[in-house]
Amino acid sequence: MNILLTALMVTATVPAPRPAMDPEAFAERAWQEAAVQVANEPDEKRKKELAEDEELGKKYSLEAEKEYKLSTNAEMLKRVEKIGQDLATIANVSPVNVTWGDKQLNRFTYTFKVIEGEDVNAFSLPGGYIYIFEGLLKYAESDAEVAGVLAHEISHAAQRHVVYLRRKTSKFDILTIPLILATILTGRGELLQLGSLTTTALANGWTVDAEKSADFAAFQYMNRATYNPTGLLTFMERLARDERSTAAVDWGIYRTHPPGRQRAEAVTSYMEAAGVPIRRSLVTTTYRTTVEPGEGDVVQLKFGKKPLVAFAGDAALDRADDAVEKLNAFFDENPQLFEVAIGTDGTVIGRRRPLFQVTPEDAEHAKVPFDEFRKSTLKSIKEAMYGLAFKTWNRQ
Ligand SMILES: [Zn+2]
Repeated sequence: MNILLTALMVTATVPAPRPAMDPEAFAERAWQEAAVQVANEPDEKRKKELAEDEELGKKYSLEAEKEYKLSTNAEMLKRVEKIGQDLATIANVSPVNVTWGDKQLNRFTYTFKVIEGEDVNAFSLPGGYIYIFEGLLKYAESDAEVAGVLAHEISHAAQRHVVYLRRKTSKFDILTIPLILATILTGRGELLQLGSLTTTALANGWTVDAEKSADFAAFQYMNRATYNPTGLLTFMERLARDERSTAAVDWGIYRTHPPGRQRAEAVTSYMEAAGVPIRRSLVTTTYRTTVEPGEGDVVQLKFGKKPLVAFAGDAALDRADDAVEKLNAFFDENPQLFEVAIGTDGTVIGRRRPLFQVTPEDAEHAKVPFDEFRKSTLKSIKEAMYGLAFKTWNRQ
């Protein structure tokens, strides 16, 4: 692919965690910045600069569309347009804290396009031209996860990371920079024929800062939108885990640059500082408890794809509905194994709260003695907890 084009795409790497911030101070600063923004409408020089971003973006978007085939999947296009424009509207009026890049509120006319193919990937060009692959949309488990990706790409454009990077790189050999970036951003090592370790490290450092800043702003946009910011976190967590264990997916950029633990921990710290609870059950199917009706009066509870317990009898469905709500709240807290127990009467207690009760009728249906049924129920819950703790990065 065209090297210059690749160089202008800014995608994933691993920033360091941020210290927690005080939400009130954070809000106050945002409002102060908003007041400054309103007072400082872009002057002529700035308008010209932003027009240059748009021109550059347009030029490379035409190249991108020669390189990639655009999707005609109407459902996907509609979904991306809706989520993208919701976030773009917010990005165009909301000053955000920025740690790397142009700190002013830059307004762009954002366009969102879907690219055919199974890559789990997305990229952003200057001026607000944003592309997302079909594969990523299939991999995402909710609108909130798609929103996390789009908010991140919007942030690169809004903070004008390409222009910013260009300024930073001006003191280096202008010809080697695009090559280094192309290598880093596409993970295609063969492109880096002439790079020294030093220049690679430098370029890596810049992209780490860009990623970190884009995540921070993405969180702020999502927090103002109706999309749960947990989606930003779970998308990173699932990618980092699946990238190691799933061969069937084409990881694109994420193959060599999976979002790492530090990036997820940084997002967790933004959420904690802003008082936004982490609710994985709301934004994924992997970390959600669901009810599946079985034969007759039997209903099955599952955590993701893992069966937890089956209820039998007249009240089975009502009991399951009640249990789902409590189990989701429990799992969302990412509890530790010792925090769950089962009483001799079959009541499962999680973090001192009753979650559900298994009955002799349930055991009878499973064709095992009640005592054995109690033990196997507890074991299933613990296995689900272990899986969750193993695949996620925060404890509450
Ligand atoms: Zn990025």
